[in-house]
Amino acid sequence: MPFCDGVRLKTAYCKAQAEGFAFMANNVAAPNILIGLLEAYAEADSDLLVQISPGAAKFAGGGDKRAGLRSLSALVRELADPYPICVFINLDHFTAGELELIAEAMDDRLVSSIMIDASQEAFEENIRVSRTVVEKARGTGILVEAELGKIKGVEDEISSDEALYTAPDEAAEFVERTGADLLAISVGTQHGVSKGRDLELRVDLAARIRDRLTESGLNVPLVLHGTSGLLPEQVREMIGYGICKLNKDTHYQYVYGRTACEFFAAHAEGIIPPSGVEDDVANLFARGDWSPDKKVFDPRAVGKEIRAKVREIALVLIEQAGSAGKTLREQREGH
Ligand SMILES: [Zn+2]
Repeated sequence: MPFCDGVRLKTAYCKAQAEGFAFMANNVAAPNILIGLLEAYAEADSDLLVQISPGAAKFAGGGDKRAGLRSLSALVRELADPYPICVFINLDHFTAGELELIAEAMDDRLVSSIMIDASQEAFEENIRVSRTVVEKARGTGILVEAELGKIKGVEDEISSDEALYTAPDEAAEFVERTGADLLAISVGTQHGVSKGRDLELRVDLAARIRDRLTESGLNVPLVLHGTSGLLPEQVREMIGYGICKLNKDTHYQYVYGRTACEFFAAHAEGIIPPSGVEDDVANLFARGDWSPDKKVFDPRAVGKEIRAKVREIALVLIEQAGSAGKTLREQREGH
């Protein structure tokens, strides 16, 4: 099965650490971005990590987070099936308020990994909450990512006005005491739209955190959130300092919006009635001479454009991450 579990994901991260590449972790809330990603990753021979945030689950479920999570997970697992790569699902920024849903995702194997975000809490409480999730995951093979430090900006249902950089000594204590499989660190990236040239990116800090963890025998992959505004050279530098997972949400949201905007602007005359024509949406213009053009208003028309553009941008980002040609497919087929 192309949907692969946490055990296989752990192997993928080990390979990334050993060979110096990373995975872009791509948020999905709807099929068009997912299909564009699947096509790009299969073409590049890279394994694909998709993420579902609580906000995306709520949106996909029409307000019902649980229904949305289950249906998005099923969508990914079903659509991934024919692609010759490993596809992993991560829960992104789930919090202490969602422990029941986290448990269900584990019990029903809806995901490969889970991020528990208790980074807004004080150090001890962050450890307690994160450790609860790690203990629950024991025996399921599902990996747990926890976060230490605060990442500035707004993402989904999480927002922080200030950046709080992760301290290397605390990072080691945190990983040791929580048992987390991955550690998200704060080194100056921002959630949302940001400009890499304006960020106070502390690459030195990423290196110190990695070194401090290695000293303690805690060689966990490091995760960077809020990477949508990073320049390619900043991405490469961060990967060089042990970052194995770079979260991308905002970038694809922009690609989606931009593509739809251009498509509808170019085809407005087939959708919006010209002046002088009665705006009779309720009767689909059946009383007058003017008719809208189904070739351009059918959601599949703009959807195809969005998929193609996501695929194009994903191919660029796969190159940045260095994951092209690194799929574990052979191992998957061998078992
Ligand atoms: Zn994030």
